Amino acid sequence: MYKRILLKLSGESLMGAKQYGIDEVRLAEYAQQIKQIADMGVQIGIVIGGGNIFRGLTGAGKGFDRVKGDQMGMLATTINALGLSSALTAIGQKARVLTAINMFPIGEQYSKWKAIEWMEKGEIVILAGGTGCPYFTTDTGSALRGIEIEADVMLKGTRVDGIYTADPEKDPTATKFDKITYDEIYQKGLKVMDLTATTLCRDNKLPIIVFNMDKPGNLVKVMSGENIGTLVYEK
Ligand code: UDP
Repeated sequence: MYKRILLKLSGESLMGAKQYGIDEVRLAEYAQQIKQIADMGVQIGIVIGGGNIFRGLTGAGKGFDRVKGDQMGMLATTINALGLSSALTAIGQKARVLTAINMFPIGEQYSKWKAIEWMEKGEIVILAGGTGCPYFTTDTGSALRGIEIEADVMLKGTRVDGIYTADPEKDPTATKFDKITYDEIYQKGLKVMDLTATTLCRDNKLPIIVFNMDKPGNLVKVMSGENIGTLVYEK
């Protein structure tokens, strides 16, 4: 079993059945799943996206300055981080938000050492604000944080069951890979994460498991070694 993980949650999934913002039912489901694995003794760092609230690139398409738009996106991830920490605390799971950019008292500013110290004390750390820099995504933020906190694996929770030959929501003939190398992702042009994130994981040998986080119970299954998603690894 993995000792320490970095869990990436997409902001978009937090919308649940809604068109925008946070669905409290989905948030509570996520919190339950996360508590289940915390109870197994695993150390957990979480990076959460902000696409349910604001994306810099979409904003730029509507006339926003890109850097300000990305800063709005980073703030959106912080809103989600606070929501998740609140949902975890509500069910008795200690969690704290560490922010990439100093915004105390919303959270303490992130450092590797602080994150590890809290995880070792049994608290979940939610790492808000992505990398803290514009022009990056939270996938890259989670790859970076995963490497920094010396996670054994990055678990990328999505709304599909893993990596497919094509987008399964658009192409019914698409088939799922049980495992795939980083290089195959480039060669086949698969859209798993942005290339910056994939490359960071490859260069630093951080394996990734892509799985469907929207099915309650799946996170425990992944942690128990069940092959329900796609493993990305170095040959
Ligand atoms: N963002 C950023 N730097 C980072 C991480 C995120 O500027 O290191 C901004 C960017 O504008 C992005 C938004 O935050 O569009 C939300 O993150 P993301 O799109 O990755 O969220 P997700 O798609 O996972 O919901």
